[in-house]
Amino acid sequence: MTYDSVRETDPTVATVLEHERTRQNDTLAMIASENHVSEAVMEAQSSELTNNYAEGYPDERYYGGCRHADKVEQLAIDRAKELWGAEHVNVQPHSGTQANMGVYLAVLDPYDKILSLDLTHGGHLSHGHPANFAGQVYDVEQYEVDAETGYIDYEGLRETAEEFGPDIIVSGYSAYPREVDFERIQSAADAVDAYHVADIAHITGLVAAGVHESPVGEADFVTGSTHKTIRAGRGGIIMCSEEHADDIDSAVFPGTQGGPAMHNIAGKAVGFGEALDPSFTTYAEQTVANATALGNRLQEHGLSLVSGGTDNHLVLVDLRPSHPDTTGKEVEAALEDAGIVLNANTVPGETRSAFNPSGIRAGTPALTTRGFGEETCREVADLIYEVIEAPHNDTVIAAVGERVDELTDEYTLYD
Ligand SMILES: *Cc1c(COP(=O)(O)O)cnc(C)c1O
Repeated sequence: MTYDSVRETDPTVATVLEHERTRQNDTLAMIASENHVSEAVMEAQSSELTNNYAEGYPDERYYGGCRHADKVEQLAIDRAKELWGAEHVNVQPHSGTQANMGVYLAVLDPYDKILSLDLTHGGHLSHGHPANFAGQVYDVEQYEVDAETGYIDYEGLRETAEEFGPDIIVSGYSAYPREVDFERIQSAADAVDAYHVADIAHITGLVAAGVHESPVGEADFVTGSTHKTIRAGRGGIIMCSEEHADDIDSAVFPGTQGGPAMHNIAGKAVGFGEALDPSFTTYAEQTVANATALGNRLQEHGLSLVSGGTDNHLVLVDLRPSHPDTTGKEVEAALEDAGIVLNANTVPGETRSAFNPSGIRAGTPALTTRGFGEETCREVADLIYEVIEAPHNDTVIAAVGERVDELTDEYTLYD
């Protein structure tokens, strides 16, 4: 993509956009929720559909001029159905958070009960954190991961559900490195007559490719973001059975949103189309293999991984056992100086704070899009380790930065 028109009319913004492209080209994106979409997805997202008002759904709009919007939204829906095998799909949520909001509005009344994973154990704000609307509108209780194993405490979840009597149990997480046993959470929900909302925001692509168990057809509602491992246009998605279709559609519009972002829906259609190609399965498998290689190598260096490893696209490092005096924020900042971008993250049993936590979270979706294989991911683990060992040593950071430059030159991204 060129920014010629922006450069002509608004050089200030054009410069920012060009700097951001350079930043993405020249650094290793290891934020586990991020990815690099294709030029095709970006073009679709910047199309004239951004001008369109299409309140309503395909063939049932409140405005004229929606012929082409209808077509592209229907394509996104049909492709999503094929990817995940869902009966009903709504592609209008502006984000994963709006997708969750839509489900809550569809089936809950204010002060109804949500049971979800604690944020510091890997949950998400939209699952009922007090700073989020969900924590303010609903009565929220939380389950945890087992302090010893780092795995979801499924037994504790079941017990809490029996005591609390939730209307909704939320599964699906932001910083959980293990395969989620959706079936087990479904049976806990069935036992207390609660709905099960499986939020697969992070693992949409892994589920679509069959490299992670799918909750579709089992959980009452499946929500997600469309720009993480699935690598499509930015936004959210809701999947459910026909039974809940009308409730979900009216909760999204007019319940929580106005006009849909049709340009992003076009980006979803294009990205879903790409994900239907057999090469996407290879991509998803490689993403997981890369995270395994990264995690194994970090462990060989003596670092401690929450749960002892990974089954998916991310690893969560607990710095406390190996580097008790080093915080996640320190490592995050030093790595960014070296061109490796990841985030500080709380770990189960956090002894610092959410703002300056004891862990780092690292994912492989974007590196895999770039073409990295296991060998390169092992080398990235070596680089991360060098910086963790010396987060305030400028010589080390500069040397790691030089190697990152070589890698980003070899594995190119956007022109
Ligand atoms: C990223 C994420 C979301 C929200 O996604 P946004 O698109 O940023 O609103 C919701 N749930 C989980 C588990 C996530 O990881």
